[in-house]
Amino acid sequence: MENRAVKSFADLINEVRSRGICGGCGGCVSFCSAGQLNALHFGEDGLPEFANEEECLKCGICYLVCPQIRALDDELKLKFRWSKPVGQCRGLDSAKTTDPRVAEVATDGGVVTSLLLYALDQGLIEGAVVSRQVGPFSRLPAVATSSREIIDAAGSYFGEAPHLEEVGRSYTSFIPAVREVGKLRQRGLQKVAFVGTPCQVYSLRKMQLLKVVPSDAVVLVIGLFCMESFSFNEDSRRRLEKKIGINLDSVNKLNIKDDIMMSTADGEVLHLPFELMDDIARPTCFACRDFTNEFADISCGGLGSPHGYTTVMTRTDTGEQVFSGARHKGYLCGMKYGSKEQERVHRTTLMAKAVSFTARKQERAVQVAG
Ligand SMILES: Cc1cc2nc3c(=O)[nH]c(=O)nc-3n(C[C@H](O)[C@H](O)[C@H](O)COP(=O)(O)OP(=O)(O)OC[C@H]3O[C@@H](n4cnc5c(N)ncnc54)[C@H](O)[C@@H]3O)c2cc1C
Ligand code: SF4
Ligand code: SF4
Repeated sequence: MENRAVKSFADLINEVRSRGICGGCGGCVSFCSAGQLNALHFGEDGLPEFANEEECLKCGICYLVCPQIRALDDELKLKFRWSKPVGQCRGLDSAKTTDPRVAEVATDGGVVTSLLLYALDQGLIEGAVVSRQVGPFSRLPAVATSSREIIDAAGSYFGEAPHLEEVGRSYTSFIPAVREVGKLRQRGLQKVAFVGTPCQVYSLRKMQLLKVVPSDAVVLVIGLFCMESFSFNEDSRRRLEKKIGINLDSVNKLNIKDDIMMSTADGEVLHLPFELMDDIARPTCFACRDFTNEFADISCGGLGSPHGYTTVMTRTDTGEQVFSGARHKGYLCGMKYGSKEQERVHRTTLMAKAVSFTARKQERAVQVAG
């Protein structure tokens, strides 16, 4: 008999997919216990759909783990000692890697990569869910189990001569990393780190709250700040190129800090306001409220830090231990300040920017919700 008292994938279709705010993260498909019975799969558009509706157990897990569903917010906030305005923040600073191999390829200060290397060397993790460059303008989620693989996953480089045409009809800066978590036990991994955007971390934390196997294998969560991610096809690409006045083939690095920075092969750095990129931002991002990755152990972004540094917010016991351990062992170093006053002003500026970007995101989400 059908259990109509429980929300299930049919409700997810109505409340998320049909409203155009499904981000294709894969949380529902990967972790629905019915998924093992092939009840759900990804359609050709990369979004989830019923593969075999009769096999659906109506367990409700897919519904609850979706990042667009706020049903477990109170429990999560309690567990992570969340407080306004950006969640629990125990420490905030700018830091950078001490490893030249990492500095060379990192997006900002290479902190994410160095934290992973430290955790791997210390045996705290056996691997990490990261995103791997597979071609120009194209990344895929991957599990890195060696230092080499972790370093190879660093950065946001697009490759030397990117040609969007080579990778099909569309490009997206969103990586469905959560899908990899579902495969961890198959790979025999018991302790892994996860690097992801706020929506991915939110989904993962809800799985952990529900004790959905194998989300317990994730022992360290490094969250990235995120204003939005992009997805574009040939049409929107041409519109964007017209607006910004450059051919995207000449772009070899994309970085997002106070604004969107595109670096070209000949060394030019273009600063583009977020509004200019609205056309190619994923619709799901306009409904998203979390900028600083409020449920991560450690959150990292470029916002507020000087060139070559990462802004680091530690939030949990695990986060504090890993960050201070990595500093202590010389994997990372902090900013050098001229005085205590300078240090306080810098940290105040970091927090003010994080709060202001959070407010901007929340305002945008309220407008979308109508
Ligand atoms: C989609 C997206 C949007 C972002 N938006 C902002 C922003 O608005 N403001 C801001 O200050 N910072 C933003 N960031 C974070 C910033 O770009 C850097 O990732 C962060 O500062 C860490 O830099 P790092 O040098 O320490 O990391 P690195 O040492 O270079 O490591 C980066 C890590 O991130 C992983 N990664 C790369 N792309 C993705 C992805 N799409 N999904 C999951 N993991 C990925 C890599 O595999 C690697 O492990 C964003 C990042 C992403 C991926
Ligand atoms: S869990 Fe992810 S893929 Fe599934 S409906 Fe929600 S946003 Fe879409
Ligand atoms: S803006 Fe939100 S939904 Fe979009 S990629 Fe970032 S965290 Fe995910």
